[in-house]
Amino acid sequence: MSVLSFRDVWVEYGEKIVLEKVSLDVAEGAFVSIVGPSGAGKSTFLRLVLGQEAPSRGRIYLDDEPLCPEPGPDRGVVFQRYSVFPHMTVLKNVMFGVQCKGKSTNVREEAVEMLRHVGLGDNLDAYPAALSGGMQQRLAIAQALITHPRILLLDEPFGALDPGVRLDMHELITTLWREHGLTILMVTHDIKEAFKLGTRVIAIDKRRKDPQAPHRYGSTAVYDFPLDKPNAAIRKELEKMVGEAAA
Ligand code: ADP
Repeated sequence: MSVLSFRDVWVEYGEKIVLEKVSLDVAEGAFVSIVGPSGAGKSTFLRLVLGQEAPSRGRIYLDDEPLCPEPGPDRGVVFQRYSVFPHMTVLKNVMFGVQCKGKSTNVREEAVEMLRHVGLGDNLDAYPAALSGGMQQRLAIAQALITHPRILLLDEPFGALDPGVRLDMHELITTLWREHGLTILMVTHDIKEAFKLGTRVIAIDKRRKDPQAPHRYGSTAVYDFPLDKPNAAIRKELEKMVGEAAA
């Protein structure tokens, strides 16, 4: 079953076409990595799913229903930085999401349980400023998951972390994905990370380029691979496209 479907989606700002003709389905339980050169429209794609932006043309469905054009508890998101509320304790940060949803039973227990899952069980009363970068991202993940979203969106979530911490976070997100049966869309510029974590890699880029009028054509899903086959050649090609050597 598809959790998310894009049907011929376009995003245009005046003359400038950012995304064109994007059609894809995301199956329940998939971990989709989204890669592409800088400025290709990856964040725009996530903003569409979040409901922070509406397509200029085309339709987006969540569980076969038209996507609610506003952010909601059915979509959780973790950004590279600044996802958490600095003036609230770790526990309050996570409880806040459930309280906003209007469900008040067992909020505290649910939040504590979720914080244990992400490894912050001993930091409930700390403020975000007292946490390391990795711990803040653990908190942001707990905050995003507490409403049991249908889809978890990750926008370069580990991009600002040291390599060792990054590896710990890879382990954490993989465990959470398996244990909670999550459906994940993750934007990353790190091809190695995309292939390591994803069950599918989608590359967003322009199919056609007009050097005289760079905004004339938008980006679309130019590659879309399930990662169940040997993929060394694909990786090489994507590394070239994103313009980075694998770490
Ligand atoms: P990526 O995440 O792949 O780096 P973005 O989605 O941030 O790319 O941006 C894609 C393109 O859309 C860029 O050229 C950017 O300048 C443009 N863009 C994004 N938002 C707006 C906006 N509100 N108005 C005009 N152009 C925008």
